Amino acid sequence: MCGIVAYIGHRQAYPVIVKGLKRLEYRGYDSAGIALLDGSLKLYKKMGKVAALEENVIGKSLDGNIGIGHTRWATHGEPSDRNAHPHMSNSGKLAMIHNGIIENYASLKQELIKKGYRFSSDTDTEVLLNFIEDIQKNNGSTLEEALRIALKRVVGAYVIVLIDKDNPDTLIAARKGSPLVIGIGKGEHFLASDASPIIEYTKEVVYVNDYEIAIIKSDELILKNLGNERQTPFIQKLDLELAAIEKGGYDHFMLKEIFEQPGTIYDSLRGRLDVQHGTITMSGIENNIDKIKDANRILIIACGTSWHAGLIAEYIIEELCRIPVEVEYASEFRYRNPIINRGDMIIAISQSGETADTLVAIETAKEQGAVILGVVNVVGSSIARLSHAGAYTHAGPEIGVASTKAFTAQLAVLTMIALRIAKERNAITPERYLHLLQELHDVPEKVSEVLEKADLIREVALKYQDATDALYLGRGYNFPVALEGALKLKEISYIHAEGYPAAEMKHGPIALVDEKLPVIFVATRDAYHEKIVSNIQEIKARKGKVIAVITEGDETVTSLADDVLPVPAADELIAPIISTIPLQLLSYYIGVAKGYDVDKPRNLAKSVTVE
Ligand code: GLU
Repeated sequence: MCGIVAYIGHRQAYPVIVKGLKRLEYRGYDSAGIALLDGSLKLYKKMGKVAALEENVIGKSLDGNIGIGHTRWATHGEPSDRNAHPHMSNSGKLAMIHNGIIENYASLKQELIKKGYRFSSDTDTEVLLNFIEDIQKNNGSTLEEALRIALKRVVGAYVIVLIDKDNPDTLIAARKGSPLVIGIGKGEHFLASDASPIIEYTKEVVYVNDYEIAIIKSDELILKNLGNERQTPFIQKLDLELAAIEKGGYDHFMLKEIFEQPGTIYDSLRGRLDVQHGTITMSGIENNIDKIKDANRILIIACGTSWHAGLIAEYIIEELCRIPVEVEYASEFRYRNPIINRGDMIIAISQSGETADTLVAIETAKEQGAVILGVVNVVGSSIARLSHAGAYTHAGPEIGVASTKAFTAQLAVLTMIALRIAKERNAITPERYLHLLQELHDVPEKVSEVLEKADLIREVALKYQDATDALYLGRGYNFPVALEGALKLKEISYIHAEGYPAAEMKHGPIALVDEKLPVIFVATRDAYHEKIVSNIQEIKARKGKVIAVITEGDETVTSLADDVLPVPAADELIAPIISTIPLQLLSYYIGVAKGYDVDKPRNLAKSVTVE
């Protein structure tokens, strides 16, 4: 988490950095700050969003062609002005921004305190900065040498960028675990956590690798490893348009992204799914199809919403391919000494491709011989690069912190992967295969039909905006949809919500049911329909309020429920992509009605680059 931006070149750094920070606010918005070098080192920082920083600097000197900026998601020390980045070293010569966590900061801090260092924040960042300065002072070394020595002793994850008053024409950056992109312009360089602050200036970028140090001047970029050996920068062309990261007339990014879904799902299928010829072609999968089809077991590793996509994929893959699947939270998997055998395949799912826990989990599994398949949205991200094979979800930049379009694109891609493997293993009849191809092809159209009913969903949302709790229930493929619905409501409206398998509700949660509790059933027509109708009866018998996502024309559930959210009929295996849409809108409208900042919900950040 945390967004970092830095600039060196012929422009004024301040406007470039502030604009960039606003684009990266999805990564954290506890505080924002900027350091500019213009003869003197000027430092401005403020708790809250970038807008608060902007107000705070009105009338102040903002000149300088070199600068660093930061938008924070606090890990060490509460959100406050004093904990905001950039931090300044004890000598006042160095300023630094940091994304990540320095795990051994406490022992380093003790060492430095004994040497007389004073700290003005509670952050791990300020410790690392003074540790670097201390090495520089003691060894009489250059900043670059001191940084190299310091990083060998540091445990944790970081992207850091430093400016040095004594070297006003150079920025120094380093990376391990957190993302860093450098944009190469004419006589200028742009550094950022992702490419969005860079796109209007240049399309040429370098993704810095772990354990690399970048020494950047206006017209020169040098990359070195920690052994001081020069590395050749791999320059890539950015495939990102400005319009994709702007709101385009919508009130919020979240709403824009919900409404983009017919297009983004189509993009994830495009060029891959060919109904006419009955084929699915995904180059990452084709190149590795033998290993993938013979996998003894598939482990799906993910966090949050991606974990829910993984649960749905588990049901689909086991059904279609007859390969055993386990779904793991990355944060648990990486620390629990899991059993990984040769021939196991790991599917790592992550929107950003930078999720720290997922990244480390697959590093471990890769070392143990597993084949890694990455399903990520951000092209060129760390997980994409670490995977043996993979498939991008092609949902485009997702700015709203609560994931919507990335989730449905993940489901589309995972379903295609399952179908491709099933075909290769002859585990599916040709009729069923072709039927599911057609069903997938029809999803964008059906999602559009749901979105046309947004006003109706809004009316339902307004009725329940004062609820304090909510229960989401579903069965089979719709059970993870219920989990995802509950997560969206928690994230956006701060209403306590829980998702359960509908039948499991009798083993505890039913005790919560009273006339005030909204119970949201994901009850589209499938093999378990009669069972879920019985579960609805059980809730009604206890006077719970029932809101049901139903297949259009389902009179039975309509007559039982207080409110219904109809979606077009779809094969049960494909239905989750469609039945999740009304739940996204329900949460969105409730969050907006309560007056919350739905794009930047409290305490959250989008790209979770800390564990
Ligand atoms: N650990 C640093 C802090 O708390 C950076 C946090 C981050 O990257 O999210 O300020």
